[in-house]
Amino acid sequence: MGIKNQDISAEDLIKQINSLKQKREAVILAHNYQPPEIQDLADYTGDSLELSIIAAKTEAKVIVFCGVRFMGETAAILSPEKTVLLPVLEAGCTLADYATAEQVREMKKKHPNAIVVTYVNSSAEVKAESDICCTSANAIDIVRTIDLSRPIIFVSDYNLGHYAAKITKREIILWDGCCPTHALLSTFAVQRARKKWPGAQVIMHPECKPDVLELADFVGSTSGMLRYAKQQPAGASLIVGTEIGLLHRLQKENPDKTFYPASDYLICPMMKMTTLKNVKDSLEKMQYVVTVPENIAMRARAAVNAMLNYKGTPKKSTPPSPPAEKAKGETEISIGVE
Ligand code: SF4
Repeated sequence: MGIKNQDISAEDLIKQINSLKQKREAVILAHNYQPPEIQDLADYTGDSLELSIIAAKTEAKVIVFCGVRFMGETAAILSPEKTVLLPVLEAGCTLADYATAEQVREMKKKHPNAIVVTYVNSSAEVKAESDICCTSANAIDIVRTIDLSRPIIFVSDYNLGHYAAKITKREIILWDGCCPTHALLSTFAVQRARKKWPGAQVIMHPECKPDVLELADFVGSTSGMLRYAKQQPAGASLIVGTEIGLLHRLQKENPDKTFYPASDYLICPMMKMTTLKNVKDSLEKMQYVVTVPENIAMRARAAVNAMLNYKGTPKKSTPPSPPAEKAKGETEISIGVE
């Protein structure tokens, strides 16, 4: 995090970025987990799907995606006519690396009747092998659209898949993958945070482990957590169980409330690689262009669009879903995007 080139002040870098942005007819998008100065610089801040939808709708010719590779890929898949730039070439996602297209094909061979539901935190190649994508906000709704007679393979976050299975009471074939940042959060850390800040509610992301989620007052995506925080009365305090970057936006949008990290270790190193200097270089040198070969993009787009076109109406052939277990935060996670 921070500015690598100490010769140029942050103020000057921001001026240069804004002038390059105009010249390139660019828009800057930043994920909720990006460093605060990048969030403040961006035209739009949000989760991966919100940003991809903005990327698809924007009239800008160039999209600077301050996030990790799979997000840039999703934007490139949805907006093939635009130039998508990822300021840091090495910014990947460990969770996305847990699944390869070959592994998904193998799994499909083992379960030929299964529907593959893939978390957007995955490579374009893996999306291309999938029937439908989901985010942490719509995973439950998407699972509910799947005909009850079809097994579900959920790629690639075990914890999110487990959570979706619990809420929908569906049997789901889970993938052995996780986000190492969210998986770091322990029950011990949450209990310690509760003792430290008595009276504070605990809100958590469903990428956290099942035993840890049991301790939450609310479980939701980053956008779900932002909505939930807004609904709380002035003076409320909340312990936040997700990547630490979300606290910046939570605090900015809710100055009358207090937010604490559930643990100081909830830091995604990949998300924290972006600096103002990277963004300036990205616009100046038009680097690093994210491309997805059209034969892969076409199939991946179908899986992403299957999710985007979901309107909340179960298919006619699908019997009504059994009533979901009343889980904390369930109503929030079943709407919106990650
Ligand atoms: S926080 Fe986890 S899921 Fe998100 S980019 Fe980092 S490693 Fe991937």
